[in-house]
Amino acid sequence: VRCEVVAVGTELLLGQVVDTNSAWIGEQLALAGIDCLLQVKVGDNHDRVVAALREALSRAEAVVVCGGLGPTQDDITREAIAELMGVPLVRDPVVAEVITSLFAARGRAMAANNLRQADVPVGASVIPQVMGTAPGLICPVAGGGVVYAVPGVPREMREMMERAVLPDLVRRSGAAATIVSRTLRTWGVAESTLAELIADRVDAQTNPTIAFLASGIEGIKVRLTAKAADRASALALLEAEEAVLRSRLGSLVFGVDETSMEDAVASLLVRDGLTLAVAESLTGGLVAARLVSVPGASGWLRGAVVAYAGDVKASLLGVGDGPVVSAAAASSMAEGVAKLLGADVGLSTTGVAGPSEQEGQPVGTVFLGLWLDGSSSVVSTRLPGDREQVRQFATITVLNGLRLRLLEGAA
Ligand code: ATP
Ligand code: MG
Repeated sequence: VRCEVVAVGTELLLGQVVDTNSAWIGEQLALAGIDCLLQVKVGDNHDRVVAALREALSRAEAVVVCGGLGPTQDDITREAIAELMGVPLVRDPVVAEVITSLFAARGRAMAANNLRQADVPVGASVIPQVMGTAPGLICPVAGGGVVYAVPGVPREMREMMERAVLPDLVRRSGAAATIVSRTLRTWGVAESTLAELIADRVDAQTNPTIAFLASGIEGIKVRLTAKAADRASALALLEAEEAVLRSRLGSLVFGVDETSMEDAVASLLVRDGLTLAVAESLTGGLVAARLVSVPGASGWLRGAVVAYAGDVKASLLGVGDGPVVSAAAASSMAEGVAKLLGADVGLSTTGVAGPSEQEGQPVGTVFLGLWLDGSSSVVSTRLPGDREQVRQFATITVLNGLRLRLLEGAA
């Protein structure tokens, strides 16, 4: 099945809203193994939407149209599809009831035009709404094509694509019935290095497919998507490929799917029965905040000290004379905070977040300390970016350092 995407909305043409929907839909179609050869944007104009859909269907068997399903007069996707299908719109009583009760539940009066969202072209089926008020539509057209209409609001669009449109498209493509994805979360190397490590797997990919997604300081995601007749077979395909990739990537992989760096650190601390204390200078509590976001952190996190001024580093953590942006300071901070708070492990951050240099050290210079088993180690590095990026990078880097150290400990 070939599928085109039509994004509806004058705001997209004017550049007031960036068409991220088409990008996301394109990615999902690729992952599902469905060819997407053309994506267009069209304004809120009845005739031009009809023309765009007609042209798309002259090339492709399926079209996803997003936006223009709302209640206002400029939301004309329903009318355009009805014209394309050559059928009238009929109000669907079930959808109308859902919309009415949604407003009632929120205690809000409903303008009559909201019920326009319950109008369905004869012959189309409804994708029930679970988030917004507008339902989606699956519209068969003469000649065997199909138009899927989904809302413009990105979160509603994604939910409907995943729940209804992609499964339906995959069924139509006849190849398989189930798609399952898994994301390997990696941290520590650039995308190009990662790609090189598994280049042969990426080149040979068919099922599962392998896609890279750079996610800023959260690292690079490697997403595997398998198609099979049933879920168990798809999972088996995923597991086999995951094993191969993990054997190549080793400790670069810190988790799967929604696992965060702090989740990974937490499970290693729990495994080893260790408690943790943190001393933060340039990160100012960011490390602690990430750790505290993990449910059950009270089981292993003793606490954290934000020691910003030099004399606080000295009096509270035992940092000696000399520069505070230094390996010696990071080392003393890690040891000092572990002893102060009675923890097995101490972590520390000190450095120059910017915008200007400090103690003759350039912006981005950081020293990350780790105290464990009675001795300290310090990593010093130069992080890229502005003040905010340096602080975020320092945070995840110090957490990753602890993760790697705890992994080594077990080896
Ligand atoms: P609703 O039923 O909520 O009114 P709709 O189907 O009418 O949704 P639109 O009115 O076209 O959708 O768009 C709603 C909002 O969704 C827009 O203001 C815009 O912020 C966002 N949006 C619409 N289309 C896109 C797109 N292609 N990419 C990203 N965001 C979009
Ligand atoms: Mg709208």
